[in-house]
Amino acid sequence: MTPTPLSAHEFKGRKFFLKRDDLYNPFLSGNKFRKLHTLIQTPKSSLKRILSYGGTQSNAMVALAKLCHDKEWEFVYYTKKLSKTQKENPQGNYFHALGLGMKCVEVEHALYKECIASLPIGLDNATQLVHQGGAGLEAQAGMEALAMEIRTQLLEIPPIVLPSGTGTSAFFLAHALKECKVYTVPAVGDVAYLRLQMEALGDIPKNLYILEPKKKYPFAKPQKEFFTLWQELKTQTGVEFDLLYAPLMWQTLLEQTKEEFLYVHSGGVLGNDSMLTRYRAKKFC
Ligand SMILES: *Cc1c(COP(=O)(O)O)cnc(C)c1O
Repeated sequence: MTPTPLSAHEFKGRKFFLKRDDLYNPFLSGNKFRKLHTLIQTPKSSLKRILSYGGTQSNAMVALAKLCHDKEWEFVYYTKKLSKTQKENPQGNYFHALGLGMKCVEVEHALYKECIASLPIGLDNATQLVHQGGAGLEAQAGMEALAMEIRTQLLEIPPIVLPSGTGTSAFFLAHALKECKVYTVPAVGDVAYLRLQMEALGDIPKNLYILEPKKKYPFAKPQKEFFTLWQELKTQTGVEFDLLYAPLMWQTLLEQTKEEFLYVHSGGVLGNDSMLTRYRAKKFC
């Protein structure tokens, strides 16, 4: 794989480097292509089918849809029953994933947990299950590859910054770059919840710093200040970030740190379409 570009920028007077993992592919972007590193390297003939599950606007879902499309593997995605509007008028990542051939299996809310728990049972050799968000130990190889790229692109690596959902990406990147400080924020839940998720993967490395945002924000809920920051970033750097994770990371980073840093673009820009629809509905833009 050719390394993704690394560029230098300034935002609100802060100098930083940007690792452009968003540029790998519009569908398979950011930390999702890193987490799927092992599957990307897997020969077509080794598998026939990928199963996964989660929400219908997930960035991991559309990344898997693209991967399976290119590998000519079947992609079966389990999700909770869709609303009538979602079904009649597919939007955003869901729309793109369907276009890439994803087969969606809708499960009744009451049966969802049980259904997901039963997915790993009795899989054949040609079928692989990818857990929600691509979380899990499989993500390690891709984050190690990212660490290697960063080492070849920068002689002196400043603190590294990337937002967390499950925390899988930050966890494995911090492990792979023990000599560097890694900053993250919990975009889903609070610091304690993020630590729990990370502890399920192993010991949290000492060089990983979880910053605590000053305010609590429910995940994926439009916030006027997030839109403003997102827009300023776009104007001042010329780079579009995702609206789900990046604004909270940037806000917290600017408030609580002083150093120059290397921001790892985590992708997810394709999902901005459906987020902007929600921002417009709230008259936030
Ligand atoms: C999935 C995703 C994250 C969260 O990654 P984790 O490894 O689950 O912490 C962050 N930012 C973007 C844009 C994502 O798509």
